[in-house]
Amino acid sequence: MLLREIKHIFHKELDALFPIEEVDAFFYRCVEHYLKLERFVLAVRPELTLTKEEEQPMFEVLSQLKQERPLQYILGEAHFMDLELKVNESVLIPRPETEELVQWILDDLDAEHTRSVISTPLNDPLTETLHPIPITHHPKPFTLLDIGTGSGCIAIALAKHIPQAKVYALDVSEEALVVAQENAKNNQVDITFLHQDILELELALELDFDLIVSNPPYVRELEKSEIKKNVKEYEPETALFVPDEDPLLFYRAIAEFSKRNLKKNGTLYLEINQYLGEETKALLKAHNFSEIELRKDLFGNDRMLKTIVP
Ligand code: GLN
Repeated sequence: MLLREIKHIFHKELDALFPIEEVDAFFYRCVEHYLKLERFVLAVRPELTLTKEEEQPMFEVLSQLKQERPLQYILGEAHFMDLELKVNESVLIPRPETEELVQWILDDLDAEHTRSVISTPLNDPLTETLHPIPITHHPKPFTLLDIGTGSGCIAIALAKHIPQAKVYALDVSEEALVVAQENAKNNQVDITFLHQDILELELALELDFDLIVSNPPYVRELEKSEIKKNVKEYEPETALFVPDEDPLLFYRAIAEFSKRNLKKNGTLYLEINQYLGEETKALLKAHNFSEIELRKDLFGNDRMLKTIVP
């Protein structure tokens, strides 16, 4: 069959379920994944014909997309910043908002590093010129923890961009840790993974961290109606939902743990529920955290928070 005919079938079958651009994106992602061809292939080879074997996986994907199974689970991979990650139904598919959270951290570290380079007298300007420290290298030893790591996206991105950091990551789900471990290996970073429940953290670790980051579950049951079928039916509930009666359950546990286990002036970065920005801020204030900063995501929702340990 002609490739453009397959594209036509994708649209015929899926346009009622998804926006047209999304159907296009699904189709071209399959073209890249299975045929190893660029998306402009149809422009340069409009008569490209696929063999039966080449067609088959495209139609298998199509039938799963009709069930609204997320494409990342169908293909078993997702992209996060510059990383390629394995994903399956035991981990949340990494979100663009979480990329923004990681970028915030990296920007802060770069700014800090730039300051420290400028304030350091250059004893040997020649050596400095010959061996410039890449901007993402934090000058001091640096220890960080990702709480509720899932696919490992945050921990791996940070480990990759801050090569000398000692990175710890934990999750309550053993299945998620298997995925995260494989992702760390595939992306050549060394991370210490711990099987641990956020709500029992005090028992587990006695370490001094420079930075703690977390994207814990934060969607309330009452917000379930806003969540699309592809998320609700396929992504892990334990990574998404919190009880309506205590939506900041995880944030309280993280605040208490961070108070004890962050170094002086250590920083806590959180992804948050867009409707609970002020409440999350108040919770941290009540735990004596300072310099609390809320930030919106690209969609204009309160989505991230940064604060300094008391
Ligand atoms: N941002 C995710 C969603 O809306 C939720 C992630 C989370 O609960 N940590 O689907």
